[in-house]
Amino acid sequence: MPIHERLEQVYSEVLARNPGEDEFHQAVREVLESISPAVGKHPQYADAKIVSRICEPERQIIFRVPWEDDNGEIHINRGFRMEFNSALGPYKGGLRFHPSVYLGIVKFLGFEQIFKNALTGLPIGGGKGGSDFDPKGRSDREIMRFCQSFMTELHRHIGEYTDVPAGDIGVGGREIGYLFGQFKRITNRYESGVLTGKSLIHGGAQVRTEATGYGTAYFANEMLAARGDSLAGKTVVVSGSGNVAVYAIEKVHQLGGRVVACSDSAGYVLDPKGIDVGLLKEIKEVRRARLSTYVDAASHAEYVDGRQVWEVPCEVAMPSATQNEITGKEARLLVDNGCTVVAEGANMPTTPEGVRIFQDGGVAFGPGKAANAGGVATSALEMQQNASRDSWSFEYSEDRLEEIMRGIHSRCLRTAEEYGMPGDYVAGANIAAYTRVADAMLALGLI
Ligand code: NDP
Repeated sequence: MPIHERLEQVYSEVLARNPGEDEFHQAVREVLESISPAVGKHPQYADAKIVSRICEPERQIIFRVPWEDDNGEIHINRGFRMEFNSALGPYKGGLRFHPSVYLGIVKFLGFEQIFKNALTGLPIGGGKGGSDFDPKGRSDREIMRFCQSFMTELHRHIGEYTDVPAGDIGVGGREIGYLFGQFKRITNRYESGVLTGKSLIHGGAQVRTEATGYGTAYFANEMLAARGDSLAGKTVVVSGSGNVAVYAIEKVHQLGGRVVACSDSAGYVLDPKGIDVGLLKEIKEVRRARLSTYVDAASHAEYVDGRQVWEVPCEVAMPSATQNEITGKEARLLVDNGCTVVAEGANMPTTPEGVRIFQDGGVAFGPGKAANAGGVATSALEMQQNASRDSWSFEYSEDRLEEIMRGIHSRCLRTAEEYGMPGDYVAGANIAAYTRVADAMLALGLI
């Protein structure tokens, strides 16, 4: 059977086995479309049902998370951990707390994570987890009780050699602290390597907080460098105003660009002087307030309620909020407004139609699994420091991050070139990652 038919067949199986999980289907489709040239050239990459095996998680954990709010009312949420692939190392990937979380989201994120982690070149497998818990408006004590209940079940499944969660949407340093506290209490083990994104005092790594955003900015700079340009002097728009967005903005500014707008789920801030990162951190990390309060302290800026940040003209776009936030419509708008580079800080923020419009419009498009891999790469460095009871300086850690991002960028370009698709970062990322995972799986036998 011709390769593309075999891959179509695998995709049909995925649809049948995972009904209603649209985001997972989307993520699988993109990878299967990309790897066709590699599988065609090296048929061993389709042997032993390796493609089907990669699309089936090794283990799926779903559990009840009961907790009590400040008024004594009981809530029941659903917890997930998708242990997708451990051919390259322990499952590694974040936890997301957001009301939209369901099996399809966790599976798409876990599936993407396999390839992202493979691209870093570090020994980490792919996993992801989370809950449909909505942390918005919850008190600190409610967040703590939820995290404790979540970890009361999760602790049985994780460990530094098994599965190492980290943060994602709705899970930052505070939540990781509560999760680690409960893990330590239940197991009576100070096993720092069981979670990453910890505070420095509990074995966290320098630059982990900044890593995803910084890494995405480095990646965008590398994409520009490949075109004989750089971020210096560029007008940039970043979506979101969470962990990834804040540090992407900070690094863009350090590299000489200017981020004129960022957003949250309610609207966006337009600040033609450049987003004030100090103010943004104060709002999001200290006060945990809404982005709209930015204009209270910066009266020259404007808050645009209920509209998409992508209407702001820019040369570089860094979507850093959530999946499918750039559809065909927003992609068309960005191209028409002169955007030439897109680096995804979020996971799968662009729909397949959006990707096509960017690529047809000559926009250099860096997919999340490559552009935002700096976060998980620095998590792997945190695991390395925990294992050796060591801690590295900020400067050294940042140098390592930059070097890793350069490596991922050149791996994507080299692979795309090798398979006759020069400049196609999507194909380059998917083929380079898929072949690494497939090689590791084939060598382990049928397991
Ligand atoms: P945060 O929770 O810190 O911030 C998320 C930001 O995105 C907030 O501004 C939030 O706005 C906005 N947002 C979330 N959901 C939606 C939505 N449905 N519609 C519109 N806006 C939304 O998360 P992170 O910054 O950690 O994560 C952002 C993205 O980056 C995610 O796709 C995540 O998977 C990805 N990522 C994160 C990594 C990390 O290290 N943290 C690593 C690699 C990827 P509001 O507050 O209004 O909800």
